[in-house]
Amino acid sequence: MLPPIADRFVAGEDISSALDHTRALNDDGVGTIFNLLGEHYDDTADASDDTETYIDLVERISTTGLDACISVKPSQIGLDISDETFADNLSRIVDVAAERGVFVWVDMEDHTTVDATLDAVTDCAETYPEMGLCVQANMKRTPDDLRRLVQTPVTVRLVKGAYDPPSRIAYGEKADVNRAYRENLAYLFEHADHVAVGSHDPEMIEYAKELHEEHGTPFEVQMLMGVRGDEQRALAADGYESYQYVPFGGKWLSYFYRRVRERKENVLFAARALLS
Ligand SMILES: Cc1cc2nc3c(=O)[nH]c(=O)nc-3n(C[C@H](O)[C@H](O)[C@H](O)COP(=O)(O)OP(=O)(O)OC[C@H]3O[C@@H](n4cnc5c(N)ncnc54)[C@H](O)[C@@H]3O)c2cc1C
Repeated sequence: MLPPIADRFVAGEDISSALDHTRALNDDGVGTIFNLLGEHYDDTADASDDTETYIDLVERISTTGLDACISVKPSQIGLDISDETFADNLSRIVDVAAERGVFVWVDMEDHTTVDATLDAVTDCAETYPEMGLCVQANMKRTPDDLRRLVQTPVTVRLVKGAYDPPSRIAYGEKADVNRAYRENLAYLFEHADHVAVGSHDPEMIEYAKELHEEHGTPFEVQMLMGVRGDEQRALAADGYESYQYVPFGGKWLSYFYRRVRERKENVLFAARALLS
């Protein structure tokens, strides 16, 4: 069982705990984006097992009628094995999602994966348009990728970027990443049908509200489980679409450490929880 200290950031080890977590959130008007924890598989059996779990999850979402969808990591369903393995597993998930009417997000991993991820997602979206892709503002190529994506049915989740790509292809300074984020956000509000703001940053969320006023483009805000939960609920109460990205599964330890390490307050939270 998940230790209480980890359950701030992770919903549980199995699908049932993840669904239970969603019921309370949905009551407060917040939708859920499930991510089964796991990445960088080099064994086709592991990639296939997680693909099957996502298919099971999609079926469970549709039978429960919850406001929930999924977000898949490419290397979890085969991208480290081959582009074809990834594309095949993604289309297996998308086929079931299309039958069941469940939205499918795809996370973006490090810079070496961007082309294969874009290609697989845009291909699948030709048959099932209810798909979204994460795009990283720290990547210098992103304005070009956005120009391509707005010509497709794919919805973009704009994030600042969690990886550390080489400086020739990415912005490393916080101020440059924030400037790029604002520029990309403005482009999306002007050219896309719907925008997903994947950020906890109050400045970016305010800017999205301003852009929405200016262009009328619908948008949603997506934040991680355990981060600014009150704000997620407040946004929903104010009538904004608010989604929580909810990781679950047995491989929670490294994800939990990442969340704890990224912020001083989280280290204090973990220390306090351990002491009590
Ligand atoms: C739903 C979602 C999905 C994501 N998917 C991906 C992905 O597929 N690929 C990828 O590379 N990255 C992904 N990310 C991570 C993203 O790239 C950033 O690394 C991460 O969100 C931190 O950037 P930020 O915009 O939240 O703000 P930051 O620049 O980290 O912080 C800006 C401000 O936000 C507020 N803030 C931030 N964190 C906290 C906190 N813990 N508590 C209180 N206030 C806080 C503070 O005011 C802070 O000054 C995702 C993020 C989210 C929210």
